[in-house]
Order: sequence, then C-alpha cells, then structure tokens
Amino acid sequence: MAYKVSRPNLTFAEKIYLPSVLAGLRITLGHLWRMLRGKTHVVMQYPEEKWDSHLPEYYRGAPTLVRDEHGRTRCVSCQLCEFICPPRAIRIKPGEIPAGDKFGKVEKYPAEFDIDMLRCIYCGLCQEVCPEQAIFLQKQYALTGTARTQLMHNKEKLLEMGGIKTGLVNKWNEKK
Ligand code: SF4
Ligand code: SF4
Repeated sequence: MAYKVSRPNLTFAEKIYLPSVLAGLRITLGHLWRMLRGKTHVVMQYPEEKWDSHLPEYYRGAPTLVRDEHGRTRCVSCQLCEFICPPRAIRIKPGEIPAGDKFGKVEKYPAEFDIDMLRCIYCGLCQEVCPEQAIFLQKQYALTGTARTQLMHNKEKLLEMGGIKTGLVNKWNEKK
C-alpha cells in the first residue's frame, strides 16, 4: 500500500532561501575576520613550518632499527618481521655470531637488513611481531629521494634513523 509522506509547510523566508544563505555567509565572514587578525591559522608553510610537535604518541612513521644503550643492534635476525610484512618490503640476510663470542648465545645478527620504503605501507606489523623490541615505527614521515634506490633503506640507514632505545632486550637477558 502506498504511503503518503506529508510535506512541511515552508514559511516565505524558507522558500526564498535568503536567510539561510546570509547565515552561511555570516559564518564564512567570521572565519575571514579571525584569519585577518591572525587568530586562525589556515595554511602551514611547509617545510619551514612542521606539524611534528602535534604528532600523537601513536603516530606511525617510517620503520627503523634501534640499538640498545651499549650501541648494539637489538635485532637477532629471526626474520619474523620479514615473514609478516604484507607487501614484502623487508629483506634480511642473517649473519652468525661465533660460539666463543661474548654474545654467542644470541647466535644471529642481521648481516643485511633492507626495507623498501616504496613498498612499505606503514602498517606497524613488523614492530608488533618483533620479539626483541628491535624495530620501531618512529615519527619520520618526510622521506624523499631523487632515485628509487634512495628509498631502499639499508641497515646503516635504519640504525641511524632509529637511534637508541633503552629497556628490556630479551637477547641480552641472562635468564633467557
Ligand atoms: S610497517 Fe608494515 S609494510 Fe612497512 S616494513 Fe613494517 S610490516 Fe612491512
Ligand atoms: S627486527 Fe625483530 S622481528 Fe625483525 S628480524 Fe630483527 S628481531 Fe626479528
């Protein structure tokens, strides 16, 4: 059965739309007035101005490798991050730590560790899965280059970007 929708009866002012147009203009002019007095900041002059200080704690920028307070890379080359990375952006070549070495019980270290930033989707899965707190998505977002190879971050570049993070590192824990 057809249902008849009743239409509201518009006033004359509503029919000519003019009051609504003027109300909208009033808001726009208010913004313009505040902007002219410097109270509303509309345009950011990037790169002179940056948004860095406003980035939230949980912001996910470029993935990086970190060292501990002794300058040692935390990565044990377990390759979990390489396995989990959805776009296959990570490539690791494990190296072996000799048994007689002070850190021989760790067994492996990353001889090569590359992240292709043209593939990375900043998902954070590598950070989530890492058992050694060795890879972190930090706040770097301005990644540029004039060639594709410049966006292939190798181990040295990743460690330089990552810096030092202190705290529990399982591989150096004698009880593990
Ligand atoms: S953030 Fe995601 S896409 Fe980027 S390297 Fe880590 S797992 Fe791969
Ligand atoms: S960064 Fe973490 S998950 Fe990736 S290989 Fe190193 S220890 Fe394993």
